[in-house]
Amino acid sequence: MSPVSLTLVADAVLTLDGAGTVHAPGAVQIDGTTIRAVGPSPERPPGEVVDLAGCVLLPGLVNTHTHSPMWLYRGLTEDVPRGEWLAGRMSPLEGRVGPADFRAGALAGCLELLLNGVTTIADRYAHMDAVAPVVEASGLRAVVAHSSYDRTAADDITVAERLIERFGTDPGRSRVWAGLGPHATDTCGPSLLREVRRLADQSGARVFIHLAQSAEEVAAVRARGAPGSAAYLDDLGLLAPDVIAAHATYLTDHEADLVGARGTAIAHCPSSNAKLEGRVAPIGRLRDAGAVVGLGTDAAVCNNGMDLFEELKMAGLLNKVAASDPSRFTTDELLRMATSDAARALGVDHLVGSIEPGKRADLVALRRTVPHLLPWHDPVANLVYAARGSDVVAVWVDGEQLVADGRPIRLDPEKILADGVTAASRLTYVAI
Ligand SMILES: [Zn+2]
Repeated sequence: MSPVSLTLVADAVLTLDGAGTVHAPGAVQIDGTTIRAVGPSPERPPGEVVDLAGCVLLPGLVNTHTHSPMWLYRGLTEDVPRGEWLAGRMSPLEGRVGPADFRAGALAGCLELLLNGVTTIADRYAHMDAVAPVVEASGLRAVVAHSSYDRTAADDITVAERLIERFGTDPGRSRVWAGLGPHATDTCGPSLLREVRRLADQSGARVFIHLAQSAEEVAAVRARGAPGSAAYLDDLGLLAPDVIAAHATYLTDHEADLVGARGTAIAHCPSSNAKLEGRVAPIGRLRDAGAVVGLGTDAAVCNNGMDLFEELKMAGLLNKVAASDPSRFTTDELLRMATSDAARALGVDHLVGSIEPGKRADLVALRRTVPHLLPWHDPVANLVYAARGSDVVAVWVDGEQLVADGRPIRLDPEKILADGVTAASRLTYVAI
């Protein structure tokens, strides 16, 4: 057996294993990229020791839906009437920037995610062949998908195939791997979606799609003769356990039951849904029907940030309101939606989402000795309702420390932010 290379010792370790084990104080032993052991803090920890006194250790957070390049547009689409956001506001903005700008935005977005304690992302956007290497360079674990539309289907499928060739589709073999990203049920007709299904079966890639994210999308699908967005996907074999559907905001109860029964995973983005649609997705119904639900920040432009701790609180509050029941969506359930359940949704729960021996060493340390996290009666409640991304002081992915003392190690934040702001300045008439 190879020697233990690193032991992290903290005030508490929340493992998020099946039993929700907490060790306080606790230690995590890392051997290379892998967690070798987790338990109470040993008197003489083996190997190099990192003392995280005053901190709590968690599994790295898993963000099931984001568009890292859209960091560029933060603050440019406020208070937009329902139905106008995508075509009326985003499309004109997207026409003003290109692949080099997307790369700059993506790196700034990845930096933001990393500093907020996110270690795994499902990322998708245009020009993903140009963007994916930047995501890879950030050190994040990521599944990358190129958004595909009817109007550019042939080119989009070519890019998707190139991503699969370059990164593969197996998260066990590569820290960055490829998925397939048909845009949505209104912008992707049957022939494109049949091709996506065929490619997914052939390559093993998971499929990421927006589902019922707006009333206009559902109306367009109905105009094609389908009873709704969910039934449309089901007919094409795309309500399945290898599909992750984002938003699901406008699903009917019957559709939510169908999605759950098919084992389709849901990327739930409560802030984005509230901001862009003024709605809460039927997450309680979906979970009751058997759907695995993971949280997503969506993009910086529709949130207006990528902080999963904020999203945890938002998910709890909005879903309690939607259910008209304050006892639903418990703190344990919510924290799992950003860790173990999110990992299940992406099909990576054998690798990440909890701190258990044999899993990858993706870990986050938060400073807990701050006014808004004390007293420490209930660590899970504090993390769900009181913690902030800015409490993150250290991050490891695959055993590599990427953040120390709240600062990135691998990335140069001053340069990344300057480049990001320069790219974003193309979007405004007055330079920022
Ligand atoms: Zn999206």
